[in-house]
Amino acid sequence: MKEYRKTSKAMLEFIEKSPTCFHAVENVKTMLEEAGYQELQEKESWEVSLGGKYYVTRNDSSIIAVNIPAASKKNGVEVIKGFHMIASHSDSPAFKVKEAPEMAVEEKYVKLNTEKYGGMILSTWMDRSLSVAGRIAVKDGKNIVTGLVNIDEDLLVIPNVAIHMNRDMNKGVEYNPQVDMLPLFAACEEGKNKGMLLEKIAKYAGVKAENILGHDLFLYTREKGKIIGANGEFILSPRLDDLQCAYASTQAFVESNPTNYINVCAIFDNEEVGSGTKQGADSTFLEDVLFRISEGLGAEKSTLLQWIADSFLISADNAHAVHPNHPEKADPTNRPFINGGIVIKYHGGQKYTTDAVSAAKMKSICQEAGVPCQTYANRSNVLGGSTLGNISTAHVSVASVDIGLPQLAMHSAVETAGVKDTEYAIKAMKVFWQE
Ligand SMILES: [Zn+2]
Repeated sequence: MKEYRKTSKAMLEFIEKSPTCFHAVENVKTMLEEAGYQELQEKESWEVSLGGKYYVTRNDSSIIAVNIPAASKKNGVEVIKGFHMIASHSDSPAFKVKEAPEMAVEEKYVKLNTEKYGGMILSTWMDRSLSVAGRIAVKDGKNIVTGLVNIDEDLLVIPNVAIHMNRDMNKGVEYNPQVDMLPLFAACEEGKNKGMLLEKIAKYAGVKAENILGHDLFLYTREKGKIIGANGEFILSPRLDDLQCAYASTQAFVESNPTNYINVCAIFDNEEVGSGTKQGADSTFLEDVLFRISEGLGAEKSTLLQWIADSFLISADNAHAVHPNHPEKADPTNRPFINGGIVIKYHGGQKYTTDAVSAAKMKSICQEAGVPCQTYANRSNVLGGSTLGNISTAHVSVASVDIGLPQLAMHSAVETAGVKDTEYAIKAMKVFWQE
C-alpha cells in the first residue's frame, strides 16, 4: 500500500477514536507518551531540562507538547534560538447535550434537548446514526474526578420531516435548533422518561448515575472515516476540520528531533466558538507554557523575549478546496484543490496571519520537503471564517503563517478531503521541526 494511504488510514482511525475534543486530547497524549513524553501539571512546580520531552493539558481538552534541544551550547555558541510551533484545534461543531435532557412527546417518544456548539451545517446531521460522548465529573468521596465516556452504540437519530409533509423541502429550509434538530432517543416505556441518558452514561463509565454531578456531552456521528473515489483519491470522515491537522502535527512532532529551536505542538479547544475560554487560543495557555519552560531552563525574561523574536508559528486549520458543483465560490486566482498539497491562506484584513516573509518561509519549507503547496484567499465580496493564528499571536507575538489542508463541505457532519494531503503535511511539518 502507498505510504500516503497508510497515513490516511491511521489518521481516519485517530478521528474515529476521537468523537469529542476530550477524546482527541487523550489520543494525542497516548501518541506522545509512546514517544517518551512526560506529563507536567500546571498546578505543580516544573523540573525541565535540556533534551526533555513534555506535555501539559488544560481542561482535558487542550494540549501543548514541547521537545527541547539536547545541548544549550555548541562550540561555545548558544544553541536555542526560539520556538518552532504548530497550532491546530481539537474541537468540531456538534450538538451539546443540555442538562436534564429528556423530553417526552405525547408519552410515546423520548427525545433529547440539545444546543448548537459551533456553526455546523444543520441538515447534514439528519437521518444518520448518532451517539453521545464527552466528559463527566463524578463525586468520589469528597473529591470530584473526571472521566471520558463514549456510548459505543447506534443510539439516536434526528429524523427529517417527510417530503409529503413539506413539499417545499428542496427549495431550502430554515431549521430551528430547538425544534427541528432534537434527536429521537427512546420509546416511552410505562411513562418513564427521565434520567435514562445518565443511566446509560453511568453504565459505560462504570460509575453510579447519582454520582455524576456534571457533564460535557456531545452528539457525534457514528459514520466511520473511509477512502472513496474511482481510484481511492478522497477521504470521507467526520471532524476532518481540524483533527486532520491535529493528527498530522502530532505525528510529525513525535517523529522530529529539535536542533536550534524548542519544538512546540499546541492543540486548542473552543476554536469553533471563538477561542475565548481558559483553554482556548485566546487564553494565557501558550504564553504560560513558554514562560515556564524558559524559566525551567534558567532563561531570563530578556532571553525569553529574544527567543520569541526569533520564533515561528504555523497555524494549521483546514482550508476550502474549489467545489466541484460551485467552482464560482472560490477566489478567481487562488484555487486550492484536494490532493494539491498544503494550502497557505491569505487575508488582507489579517484574519490570516500570513505575510510576505512567513509565506516565503512556508513555501521554502514545502520545497525542501518536496511537497506541493497552493494558495487560498476569500473572494473579495465574501466574509471568510476566522482561525487560531491571529488569536494566538495576540498573546505570543511571533511571526506566523496560516495554513490548512484542502477540504470540501467544512462543518458538515461528514467532510471530504484528499488521500494524499495528510502525508504532505507531515513531511513539511517534519522539515520545519528539524530545521
Ligand atoms: Zn477549523
